[in-house]
Amino acid sequence: MMVTPEGWEAVIGLEIHVQLNTATKMFCGCPVSFGDVPNTNVCPLCLGHPGTLPAMNEKAIEYATRIGLALNCTISPHSIFHRKNYFYPDLPKGYQISQYDLPLAVDGHLDVELEDGSILRVGVTRAHLEDDAAKLVHAGGVDGRIAGADYSMVDFNRGGTPLVEIVSEPEIHTPEQARAYLTQLKSLLEALEVSDVNMEEGSLRCDANISVHRPGTPFGTRTELKNMNSFRFLQRGLEAEIERQISALERGEEIVQETVHFDTGSGKVSTLRSKEEAHDYRYFPEPDMVPIELSAEYVEKVRAGLPELPAARKERYMRDYGLSPYDAGVLSANRPLAAFFERLSTQTGEAKLAANWVMGDFSGYLNAQGLEVKDSAVSVEALAELLGLLAAGTLSGKMAKDVFAAMVETGKGAPELVAERGLGQISDTGELETMVSELIAANPGPAEEYRQGRDRVLGFFVGQIMKQTRGQANPQLLNELLRKALAGSSPDN
Ligand code: ADP
Ligand code: MG
Ligand code: ZN
Repeated sequence: MMVTPEGWEAVIGLEIHVQLNTATKMFCGCPVSFGDVPNTNVCPLCLGHPGTLPAMNEKAIEYATRIGLALNCTISPHSIFHRKNYFYPDLPKGYQISQYDLPLAVDGHLDVELEDGSILRVGVTRAHLEDDAAKLVHAGGVDGRIAGADYSMVDFNRGGTPLVEIVSEPEIHTPEQARAYLTQLKSLLEALEVSDVNMEEGSLRCDANISVHRPGTPFGTRTELKNMNSFRFLQRGLEAEIERQISALERGEEIVQETVHFDTGSGKVSTLRSKEEAHDYRYFPEPDMVPIELSAEYVEKVRAGLPELPAARKERYMRDYGLSPYDAGVLSANRPLAAFFERLSTQTGEAKLAANWVMGDFSGYLNAQGLEVKDSAVSVEALAELLGLLAAGTLSGKMAKDVFAAMVETGKGAPELVAERGLGQISDTGELETMVSELIAANPGPAEEYRQGRDRVLGFFVGQIMKQTRGQANPQLLNELLRKALAGSSPDN
């Protein structure tokens, strides 16, 4: 249990909306696509015209089932749609088609790995299907870009996109835990290939419910932070709201159940204090849709088709590649990175070296340039070639890093760069042996000191050879040859 210094414990439940990346919308044949010219992917149905009849997208049911299964939920053999009634300009029907008391998936959990390696099991209350609203574009805002404009426009392209809402139990207790839950849920959804899970584009959206209480007493009144659309804002918004609630309660004030707003600029939470908060959505069964009936065979077929999930992949990396839990966790969480690592590992035959490079220089390069794995200027084959030179001792670790940086910059291959720059470690035993015996002959004093037991003198000899070879002598080989030669040059031997 995480208790603040003041003796309060935070209670957090997350509601995550996932846009499914089906080809078409939930109830009509319009394409699902992000960033198209506004109001081009529309038809009378998704514009809410009277007299139109919805037809269920079966792919959306399959994707929702996949999500439910991956979250260890029970898939309901029988679930139905409800109308959730409210008025808003982005909702031409005047209601959202959602699921209410009979959702598609219930009673699951996600095992969230925390920083310290411990596991937090977060209950998943439900995962249900619904259709997305259209998108309001504020003319003067970043999307609209009409200077000074004070009106909004509606882009109906998004309206009717299939959504799955994943509701967690209030079993998260810190902003860091909330972030870890969202991060791992995102990685799971990515592996399932059911969504683009892009928070910036809105295909993954997060609402957070927060309350605070003294452990052992009933839960406090909760507030809701809507649209926390980045991992950082979620964490910062939660921190600010927890602090606000604790200080309000310590001043003897009451928490009002309402939606609060997190200002990312000021880092402060403001309350709207609207009295009209308690919605009455007048839920009633959707009369135009038949129930979703899923047979056990169907559910088992979907289960059998699930791809390898991050947790299983992590286990496999530890088992088959001998990676540490940390390395296996980092590599398995990101599907493209995992695929890159596996191919590199196969091509080099050096799993640990491949893991170090993918997590180190390679990820560092992608992050620094804001690139995805698929946009990398360095291919698996090119990196494998570099690691080959490293593993063979042609390049030292330091040289390999420099060559990698040059590969990124010039697009040239490692062998070409090594030749061009006259790089390459001297791993030629004969060549090094000659240098070593000449050096020892020229320095009988230090050689004698070494034989008297002053091991540190070895450093002097290593330094001399490195100077002579401009750092290109293979250090391991050099060490070995020096020790042998120094011992061998002893008059007692
Ligand atoms: P609603 O029907 O109003 O959406 P739910 O019972 O479905 O309410 O809960 C919505 C979310 O709020 C869930 O994620 C749940 O875990 C969370 N939640 C419920 N009670 C609390 C509480 N006291 N503090 C924080 N979160 C809560
Ligand atoms: Mg809810
Ligand atoms: Zn349509």
